[in-house]
Amino acid sequence: MAEKKVKVDRVMMPEQDPDVRRRNFMEVPLGLSEEMAITEAKRCLQCKKPACVDGCPVSVAIPEFIKCIADGNFSAATKKLWERNALPAVCGRVCPQEEQCEGRCILGKKDKPVAIGYLERFAADWERKNGTGEIPAVAEKTGKKVAVIGSGPSGLTVAGDLLVKGHDVTIFEAFHKPGGVLVYGIPEFRLPKEIVASEVATLEKMGANIECNTVVGATVTVDELFAEGYDAAYIGVGAGLPRFMDLPGENLIGIYSANEYLTRTNLMKGYLFPEYDTPVARGKNVVVLGAGNVAMDSARTAMRLGADSVKVVYRRSRDEMPARNEELHHAEEEKIEFVLLTNPTQFFGDENGRLTGMECLKMELGEADASGRRRPMPVEGSEFKIDCDLVVVSVGSNANPLLTNSTPNLNLNKWGNIIADPITGKTSQKAVWAGGDIVTGAATVILAMGAGRAAANSMHDYLTIGW
Ligand code: FAD
Ligand code: SF4
Repeated sequence: MAEKKVKVDRVMMPEQDPDVRRRNFMEVPLGLSEEMAITEAKRCLQCKKPACVDGCPVSVAIPEFIKCIADGNFSAATKKLWERNALPAVCGRVCPQEEQCEGRCILGKKDKPVAIGYLERFAADWERKNGTGEIPAVAEKTGKKVAVIGSGPSGLTVAGDLLVKGHDVTIFEAFHKPGGVLVYGIPEFRLPKEIVASEVATLEKMGANIECNTVVGATVTVDELFAEGYDAAYIGVGAGLPRFMDLPGENLIGIYSANEYLTRTNLMKGYLFPEYDTPVARGKNVVVLGAGNVAMDSARTAMRLGADSVKVVYRRSRDEMPARNEELHHAEEEKIEFVLLTNPTQFFGDENGRLTGMECLKMELGEADASGRRRPMPVEGSEFKIDCDLVVVSVGSNANPLLTNSTPNLNLNKWGNIIADPITGKTSQKAVWAGGDIVTGAATVILAMGAGRAAANSMHDYLTIGW
């Protein structure tokens, strides 16, 4: 007689206590123990047609890596992950699993889905701490040189894949550290920087040459790179140009873009000022405008920098907030207040040009708009004031025109994003590929990586077979 499976509840991730963590920058979820990981892995039904894999943008062999964990073979689990995903420790932490793999898991129909993200993080962390430091095998040199512009998840993926295939790769990065949003945007308490550094170190061991402090489009142009002898280029420069709201008073001292606020805090280590010499404003009454992951990161950062109150102001309702559920939940636990159905109309300052407050209007939801979400409509006469000394504007970002303006043969769409073939990443310029946020607009880590992998395959064909 077949053995009956005993129902086991989904594992709970141990976390720092909210009252403690809201004042420190250490990672919030603490990771699973080996016992917890094995117990959770055994919940997986090892489906013959695993729906979870259909939900993963890079088709990770999910049941297979989970089986390795269930068998206690943690190193084999990571190697299984690496076959499709070069950054599992990152993705296990920041991917929106509830919309992807876990959102499709068959167990989720009647119970809670398998904690695929926790298990991915567990395997990758285990390998980093206990593994032999093995690096992927690299093919014999082809003699072809590739320039990868931008060192975010998309550029790092292209670099890793092309190194494995034997090409010489140089990564050009505008900032002084590689990693893209993984180091300048996502805060330490969500993604410790040592994890990104370790992924980058692996690429260097595989032979990647990394040139930081190089703004392609200013320091050197794409055409000049070809003149220097590069055979192909990949553009993965992200979408880091901050968007503002164009409201009266938006230039007052004390109003930051989320991009500047998070870059100062994370990349420049402003939270350790004066040990590090980049200052960042420490508001007492902080307002964050927007409701995506970037807004939650800004709000939770402000709390850790010592704010008495942090309000997230958003024009729609809780149901429409685009941030991951986990981020919303963590923010609420850390006493971040959500001021919903509210839109700012102007900012006020004192005689020194410093922000003192803002005016808002109450909103109500009307019919659905083009995005499928109900359109927020102002409620007449509902103006009210919020006192604040720091505002972080987090209402999206655009493509930065620096590189594209200096590369005239690249076709762009009306928002300034590069037009690239959705399957191969090829652009309108010969031997130039592009992917990640600079093509799609602000999206996700895993989509940027998926685009990088597709482009690397196409670039390899070009470098070995021809156009
Ligand atoms: P990026 O990560 O933006 O990297 C681009 C790199 O190119 C940067 O290092 C930049 O300095 C460099 N660059 C730009 N211009 C030049 C130039 N001219 N020359 C040389 N280098 C240049 N996604 C998730 O999946 N989960 C999350 O939880 C999540 N949270 C986020 C939180 C924040 C604060 C932000 C900003 C984004 C978040 N995202 C999240 C989105 C995700 O990080 C991005 O979609 C992803 O990083 C895009 O990768 P990319 O490689 O295209 O670009
Ligand atoms: Fe396991 Fe869920 Fe994937 Fe089935 S759908 S293989 S139960 S993770």
